[in-house]
Amino acid sequence: MTMQSMSAEREVKTTCPYCGVGCGLLAKVSPGSEVSVHGDPEHPANFGRLCSKGMALPETLGLEGRLLHPEIGGRKASWDEALDLVARRFSQAIAEHGPDSIAFYVSGQFLTEDYYIANKLMKGFIGSANIDTNSRLCMASSVAGHRRAFGADTVPGTYRDLELADLMVLVGSNLAWCHPVLYQRIAAAKEARPEMRVVLIDPRRTMTADIADLHLPIKADGDVALFSGLLAYLAQHRYVDQSYVAAHTTGLNVALAALPALTPERIAAQTGLTVEQLDVFYTLFAATEKVVTVYSQGVNQSACGTDKVNAIINCHLATGRVGRPGMGPFSVTGQPNAMGGREVGALANMLAAHMEIENPEHRDRVRRFWRAPRIAQKPGLKAVDLFRAVRDGGIKVLWIMATNPADSMPEAGLVEQSLRACPFLVVSDIMRDTDTLRHAHVKLPASAWGEKDGTVTNSERRISRQRAFLPAPGSARPDWWILCETAKRMGFAEAFDYGSPAEIFAEHAALSAFENNGTRDFDIGAFAGIDRTSYDRMQPFQWPRPRRSAPAETRFFATGGFYTQDRKARIVPIELSPPKTIDAEFPLVLNTGRVRDQWHTMTRTGKSPGLSQHFAEPFVEIHPEDARAHGVADADLVRVWSGQGAIIVRALLSKRQRRGTVFVPMHWTDQFAGSARVGTLVPGTADPHSGQPALKHASVRIERFAAATYGFAVLKQRPRGLKADYWALARCQGGWRLELAFTAGGMDMGAFAASLFNAPEGVETLAYRDGATLRDRFACFDGDRLLGALFLAPEPVAVSRAWACEQLLARHDGHRARMAVIAGRPGANGIDRGVLVCSCFGIGANEIAAVVGQGCRSVDAVGQALGAGTNCGSCRGEIRQVIEQYCFKSEMRHAEAAPVQARERALS
Ligand code: SF4
Repeated sequence: MTMQSMSAEREVKTTCPYCGVGCGLLAKVSPGSEVSVHGDPEHPANFGRLCSKGMALPETLGLEGRLLHPEIGGRKASWDEALDLVARRFSQAIAEHGPDSIAFYVSGQFLTEDYYIANKLMKGFIGSANIDTNSRLCMASSVAGHRRAFGADTVPGTYRDLELADLMVLVGSNLAWCHPVLYQRIAAAKEARPEMRVVLIDPRRTMTADIADLHLPIKADGDVALFSGLLAYLAQHRYVDQSYVAAHTTGLNVALAALPALTPERIAAQTGLTVEQLDVFYTLFAATEKVVTVYSQGVNQSACGTDKVNAIINCHLATGRVGRPGMGPFSVTGQPNAMGGREVGALANMLAAHMEIENPEHRDRVRRFWRAPRIAQKPGLKAVDLFRAVRDGGIKVLWIMATNPADSMPEAGLVEQSLRACPFLVVSDIMRDTDTLRHAHVKLPASAWGEKDGTVTNSERRISRQRAFLPAPGSARPDWWILCETAKRMGFAEAFDYGSPAEIFAEHAALSAFENNGTRDFDIGAFAGIDRTSYDRMQPFQWPRPRRSAPAETRFFATGGFYTQDRKARIVPIELSPPKTIDAEFPLVLNTGRVRDQWHTMTRTGKSPGLSQHFAEPFVEIHPEDARAHGVADADLVRVWSGQGAIIVRALLSKRQRRGTVFVPMHWTDQFAGSARVGTLVPGTADPHSGQPALKHASVRIERFAAATYGFAVLKQRPRGLKADYWALARCQGGWRLELAFTAGGMDMGAFAASLFNAPEGVETLAYRDGATLRDRFACFDGDRLLGALFLAPEPVAVSRAWACEQLLARHDGHRARMAVIAGRPGANGIDRGVLVCSCFGIGANEIAAVVGQGCRSVDAVGQALGAGTNCGSCRGEIRQVIEQYCFKSEMRHAEAAPVQARERALS
């Protein structure tokens, strides 16, 4: 990007880098390089909508923490030096130990062009299939289920189907927080057609329940029994579409015969639901022609994820409800480009362009197309096995790109040991400090979102362009370039001589059409040989787009045409596993997942002050009865143990949690908390068909973490080297906020405060100690600016976090104003917004409660008064909760006295 092109305001059409909805957005860059973003009204995924994460993208673009130059052993190096070393070590390992001694672990955050090159290099030129992706953790079970049923990894429907359905079944999918724009599309459709029904199947009553007519709080992994029971019900009650089944499927009778005698009572026992709930759901499903069943990580991240997928698909195949408007099974991906990875075959058990690695004809076809010297002959190691092989010494050289497995993988402790033990570890990333990168021998700086060009595919098979609108900082380079330069140094110059991502996409499209003739679902031959100009102008389109086809909304399988040998779908017989017995030592089931305003391991969203206020520390959500049984109160600190490890997080009591289960978010790493990596608790159990780890099912126990002193601080500067038994750090406007706890009494807290504030000489520090109640407070000022404040108490600190954070931006003229900070509460004219509810407009629970008190008794009325909930809409469920709370419980009026960590108490 030239300086000239940066001298005028520019607007660039691109796509959001977060979830699999794949929203289009308009990035506007001012002449001063200020970036603002808006939803692209013309993009068919979102029609102008964005969620809180998409809206906050400009807050994540700063260079703070970026890896800007290659490093070898911690010292700065040139690209030539770093890549020569990487290529030499890879070539050496191949020569000495064979191609299977090396591995790539790549990412659903890759653009398709990056993915294509990584896969081509590993499978076609190195000759191993030891390339896996973090998408293994996201949707591998959906891939395996699709391939078993359809003969190909095909998502049959489109987002429009979610609006056209008369019954929307959401399984293991908290769309309201994880795919907010899709959720908003469904909510809007339901508002327009109130007769549309929504059923939520989830052990937790998540915010998605806000639009649900029926919530089925299913037992963890009860889905196979639920949908097997549904298949039996459909057959018994003659809802099978006999003509569709006869013409386009095989296996129904075998599948039915394989089911054990499924009495309603037995299904109820396996699912934890009542017979009445089952009856309502089965009747509704059976009687409604237009049904879409959406599923995501609650289905996929399971030891029986593939069976769950097929149990769902079986019901749609048996009723012929596939690929027609408003009908079909619909897997939504968590990652922005998990689908693109599937297209290029970047999973260890796939081949490019939806071809099969087990199929010799396919292997030969891909090898000939690539003019490759060799081709991987067998599937490679899937993620869990790959890191175990690093630990066991089978993998000598590992290259991790655009992902953070030290946190995101199960058995994360073991993964970190593997990284430590790896003889040669290369990591490409945009950030300099991650829990993975700290073990790298070579660090390679990658270009970030906004700096690189390419394509991504969203959950409805829509390919969109991601376009650069910022120059790459320092020496950062796109991943495809880093891979190609390495390949050239390994002796493969001719096959990796690309000048731009357009050339890579053109080849990817050509391969999809190569000897295809309608035998493979993925065909974008219309773009084979596309030139740079056309690539730059490319509009979002759905595949397939064979040569000479026109853009169209596409669906699969309404009239059969599956990708099996006989072109018929398979209704797969599913075995029901016996219900899991409760482990006496670890009696609770741990479920992991996302929160609304964070993304994966927070390397980007953790930079945003706005997004960091929704949940500013890691937590465990527990049913109040379970908490009581374990002696845990709201806002206590809790140690969560499994057979693998332990973490310390805040207790958040909620009746939305099913009894016997707890929920811990996946996001917190060692960069943001002392001990909260939930992956360290989860064993490496994986689905036998897909290899996808069971991230939503670990056996744990909890116990109260007895702290002698609790602390809360706001700080201008990020603190380093924290020495506390518990800490959790989050960005806020003007600085950082920090939660603390100490087990030992009698510490010199004055010295601790001084080290925390790290203040220059000559600044003013105020201290206050209440000897009777053992409360200490410190505040440090540079002139009228607060550098830091620390509040300590023998119980969770009852200081309004929102108010305290605002003090970092306020002026504190005079002693009285400074003493107000020490007092830890707003003065007479001060405002305490309360916990953040609406990220888009920065509206807190107390502000909402105030307008509710003035008569705003609906979400829309609150929106009119404050704007809250009127932008991305992700917080509308929480606004409704505040309204209900205000109307029905008096505690709401005292929310300002509650420790803010216990946001649930204020909101539910
Ligand atoms: Fe991005 Fe939100 Fe759209 Fe997902 S729903 S793509 S996170 S804006």
